[in-house]
Formats: sequence, structure tokens, C-alpha cells
Amino acid sequence: MNKNYFYKPYEPKELTLLPCAVCGSRSTHPLADENNLHIVSCASCDYVYVNPRPSVAALEDFYREYYPPQEGLADSWGGEMSAIFANIFGYINARYDSGQILDIGSAYGHFLSQFDAQKWFATGVEPSPTATEYCRSNFPRITTFTSNFEDADLAAGSFDVVTSFYVVEHVFDPRDFMQRVHHLLKDGGLAVIRIPYTRPFFPFARLLRRPLMYAPMHLNDFAPAHFERMGREIGFRSVETTVGTSRNSSNMVEKLGAAIFGFIGRVYEVFAPSSHPFPYAGAYTYLLRK
Ligand SMILES: [Zn+2]
Repeated sequence: MNKNYFYKPYEPKELTLLPCAVCGSRSTHPLADENNLHIVSCASCDYVYVNPRPSVAALEDFYREYYPPQEGLADSWGGEMSAIFANIFGYINARYDSGQILDIGSAYGHFLSQFDAQKWFATGVEPSPTATEYCRSNFPRITTFTSNFEDADLAAGSFDVVTSFYVVEHVFDPRDFMQRVHHLLKDGGLAVIRIPYTRPFFPFARLLRRPLMYAPMHLNDFAPAHFERMGREIGFRSVETTVGTSRNSSNMVEKLGAAIFGFIGRVYEVFAPSSHPFPYAGAYTYLLRK
């Protein structure tokens, strides 16, 4: 696992059952137990998720310590994500001259700091006070809320672009999260969401005796077809899946895996129809238009 993350044995409390975020079914098949929680697949659409799951309040307690105050952690995080941040910044910058941008799970602010403060009004939402304090002192032009996205006071229809990297896999109710993203975007606005899809790697993880989803950290494991279906049902006009740039993990197994599978995925993407993305990419970037 990644040394940047704070991971300890979990004592489940206040567990809540949720229906499938993709199809609404409440019927599931058991897949595995992890950290005293159950990983299940939807009996109707095969989407994989942790059910029941910790309540919003229990997750808030858990994530308050997600970025421990530790020397050099902000720089190491920025370095790990820099290729992804540069890639998506380039994509947005090629399509917009200026506007209002919101990053959900903005961490230390590295992604938003790339945008020209003369042209962009940048807002970050991040529950970790350690991360938002760093952002406020290093990037004072970014408006930062120390809050859960669900609780942040943001105006409907006010953003040209909403981004979120490696957040949706962690949230209590991913369908509600994406509905809120849709609600906050202007008409024609763009959401860029990057999330892992780990189920194809479950056999490897079992072989290497590694956690499958690091529950309760990862609660939602969308395959591209699942995320696309949910996005369209919420009301996005178009949902496009890309393999995108790999994360430069500080863990060697993850780093090597991401580099190899990400590379194959990008080559595959050039030749394969977009309706069948490479299943072993490890993570995908979704481009959703309102
Ligand atoms: Zn389902």
C-alpha cells in the first residue's frame, strides 16, 4: 500500500446498507471480507462495492487523520500526482480561456495552483485541515473550504469545470456525489473525474496477499460501463472514458503496475472502440458534459 496513506485496522460502527449506485438493486453476492467489512457485487448489474458501509459521520472521523501532519508529505503527494495534474490541466486549458473551477478533494492545492489566477477563479474543497492549511499558506489565491463536499456551501450552476481525482471511490454515496457535481455545473459545463477500478486485479491482490480495496478507504469500484451508465442517468449529455496518465505511486508494486498496465491501456485505447476500454488500466478519467 502507499506510504502516504494512514491505514489502520478498522472497527466498524454505525454501518449503513445502501442500494446499488448504478441500478438501485438491493440484492448482492458476497465477494470478500476486508478489515471487518464486506465487499459485494450487485446481483443485477455486477457493480462492486462495500456494503454495509460506515456512515458519513464515521467516515469523517476516519478521514480527519488521512493526511497526518508529516514533514515533506505535501511535496511527495504533489510529486505522485504531478503527471496526472499536468495532463488534465492541459486538457482543460486547451478548451477554456478562463472561468470558475472547483476541485473536490483538493488536498494541498497542487492541481488548482496550475491555473492562472488572473483568468480563473479556483475553489477547493478538502476535509483534511492539515492539507487546507498548507493550501492557504502556499496558494492564497485558491478559495479553500475545509469540509466534506456534501456539506460545502456552493452555488448551483456556478462552475464551468468541476474536477475530482481519486475521491469518488471513497465517498459514502457516489450517486449523490455525482448528482451534486451535475447540479453545481453550468449548462454545458465539464466534469473531469478520475477513479480507480480494481476488480480485475483482485486475483493478483489475493496472490500477493494485498488488500483488495483497502476498505473502508475504497468503498466504490466502478467499471467504466457502470460509471458511464450512472453519469447518463444523472443527466450528463455525454460521458467519455479515457485511460489517462498513470499515477507515480511511491509504492514500487503500485508504481510498476500502473506504469505497465497504464501503457498497455493507452496503446489499446488507440485501436479499440471507445465502448470497450482496456479492463486492466487500474484507473480511468471520465469526461462528463452537462
Ligand atoms: Zn446494480
